[in-house]
Amino acid sequence: MVAMTLRNNIMEQLLSKLAADFPSLTYAPGKQFCWSPETGEIFYNTTATGSRAEWSLLHETGHALLAHKTYSGDFELLKLEICAWDKASDIAKSYGVIIDDEHIQDCLDSYRDWLYSRSICPTCSTKCLQQSNYTQYRCFNCHTVWGVSPSRFCRSYRSTKNVKQPAVFHLFNPR
Ligand SMILES: [Zn+2]
Ligand SMILES: [Zn+2]
Repeated sequence: MVAMTLRNNIMEQLLSKLAADFPSLTYAPGKQFCWSPETGEIFYNTTATGSRAEWSLLHETGHALLAHKTYSGDFELLKLEICAWDKASDIAKSYGVIIDDEHIQDCLDSYRDWLYSRSICPTCSTKCLQQSNYTQYRCFNCHTVWGVSPSRFCRSYRSTKNVKQPAVFHLFNPR
């Protein structure tokens, strides 16, 4: 219990340092680590502890500093994720934090899994290609159309892989 409090403090210490060093950024408590380009806020999980919490915080700060807003398609989203981790590793040095490379690869793999799962047709399970408007997928097999969120800079954890995640945000009726 004491150890947990200490670890929490480490995250909070980093948070206050980041807030002081980057006064233009806004940090807000939330359910998960997330960069919201819409509101310009970095959300942090208030119950997260330990190194991973610090890494996540730095990662979202990376997105914010790079002013990631929109992306055209899933492939570009993955590129932005890599950029955010590069930036995070860079700023981490000034706080004496080293982000584990294996953790970064795990996070990117989770993203790849997530992108893959949302490209699967919810009706017939055919793997489909994203439509040119980047917010929809259309099944060439059964013609189901489903929507995907155009913005997704939230953390995707490999540890939640076994938990069913909402890969499909809403379904459009194809007829
Ligand atoms: Zn289908
Ligand atoms: Zn990210």
